[in-house]
This record gives sequence, structure tokens and C-alpha cells, in this order.
Amino acid sequence: MTMVAILSGAGISTDSGIPDYRGPNGMWTRDPEAERLVTYGPYMADPEVRRLSWRMRLDGEVLAAEPNVAHRAIAAFEKSGHALRVITQNIDGLHQAAGVSERKVLELHGSARAVVCTACHARSPMAEALARVQAGEDDPACRACGGILKAATVMFGERLDPVVLGNAMSIAKAADVFLAVGSSLQVQPAASLAGIAAEHGARLIIVNAEPTPYDPVATEVVREPIGTALPALLDRLR
Ligand code: NAD
Repeated sequence: MTMVAILSGAGISTDSGIPDYRGPNGMWTRDPEAERLVTYGPYMADPEVRRLSWRMRLDGEVLAAEPNVAHRAIAAFEKSGHALRVITQNIDGLHQAAGVSERKVLELHGSARAVVCTACHARSPMAEALARVQAGEDDPACRACGGILKAATVMFGERLDPVVLGNAMSIAKAADVFLAVGSSLQVQPAASLAGIAAEHGARLIIVNAEPTPYDPVATEVVREPIGTALPALLDRLR
């Protein structure tokens, strides 16, 4: 059976109301300072950065977002019995919310639906931490040990989980078709998965509004909006 691997980036979730980082209306494009709020060093060193970061999450779009037509098309593709793995750079949990099996999704950059203590590593739901912020705690501490809490995402300056990355590389090597969807393919090592897949003989198909550094090694580049292009592409692969 043909094994289809999908590497998704922020562009798959813009139709769900979550801005990407580097697209024309992206968070970094609009406010380059926002990057400090998700960089490990400043976050740990400066309580003001943490206060702004919690505030951004409280006002942000991620927890309220719903899966869109592209997330649902991927879930339907899996349901129809195809061999599918999803590797995502996204932290929004929308592939699982759309119905893709948890065990088929690798979250390279972690999840914004949970928080983790930087001292004792205890994990708890993001909604719980945000409820504390809403109730007036501007920098909620770990209830177990008093340590600094952060989103369970991989911040700039943090390493990816080597087990998750190793699994993603194995999937890229084994894939017959590798779809890179909604990623500028600029963040490493996630982006290199597209190159690894192509080197190992996969058909690399890139669906993205803007050019990426991997376009020259792709079998096919689709520049149309993901909401229409991806469902059509998955239909073609059935
Ligand atoms: P990116 O912002 O670097 O690139 C997104 C790309 O998607 C852009 O090139 C843009 O042109 C394209 N795009 C946006 N909407 C599109 C649409 N509807 N149709 C076609 N193309 C579209 O995103 P990235 O490569 O994923 O890297 C950003 C990093 O930021 C990731 O590592 C991720 O962890 C994080 N991030 C996650 C989310 C999320 O979870 N939804 C949102 C923003 C950033």
C-alpha cells in the first residue's frame, strides 16, 4: 500500500484563524518582537516576557480554533483506509481535533494545549493555566514545586525531542508520497524532512502559497490555497 506522509506547517491552520509566522500576515512579519515571547532564554530570565507570553496566549486564537476543511480532508483520507502519517510543526492540535488518530500524528514542536513545569516537568492542561491567568495570576507557577511554567511547545533555543525527530526521519525515509503543506520550510530540522523524503525516493509534493527552498527538488509544487488544493490532491491519491 502507498504510504503517504504529510508534513504540515502553520499555513494549514490559517483558515482556522491562527496566523502563521512568515506569511504576508504572519506574526513575525507584523511584529518581529513577538519572537522573544517564544524564545527560551528571555522567557526564563525575564518575568515581564512571561507575563506578556501568558497574555498573548489568553488573547490568542489557538485554544478556540476549530479544524478546517484541510484538516478534515486528511482525517477522511485516513478513515478511508490509507496508510497515513502526519508530522506537524503546528502546536494547535487541530489534526487530532479533526479526527486523525493520535498515534498517527507526530508533533515536532510540541503542543500549546498543555503546559509543562521547567523544574519538575509536571504536565497539566493549558486551559487550567489560562484560567489562573484570567483570575489574576500574571505568571502562574507550578502547583507541585513552584517552578516556572511554560507551554509544552518547543521554544526557540530548545532542542526537539530526539525520539520524535528520529521517528519523523524514519517516516520521511519510508514514505512513497511526501506532502509538505503550509510550511515555508525554513525551520530546521523540520524542513530537512522534505529533502530526506525526496532523497529516499518519495514523490515530494509541496503545497504552499509562497516559494520554499525545497521547490527545486519537488516532483510537484502547488501554489493554490490549501483549502481547495489539499482536498483535491488527496482525492487524486486515493
Ligand atoms: P511559516 O509561517 O514559516 O510558513 C507558513 C507558510 O504557509 C507561508 O509560506 C505561507 O505563505 C503559507 N500559507 C499560509 N496560509 C496558506 C494557505 N491558506 N494556502 C497556502 N499557503 C498558505 O510556518 P512554518 O513553516 O510552519 O513554521 C513556523 C513555525 O511556527 C512552526 O515551527 C510552528 O511550530 C510555529 N507555528 C505554529 C502555528 C500553529 O500551530 N498553527 C502557527 C504559527 C506558527
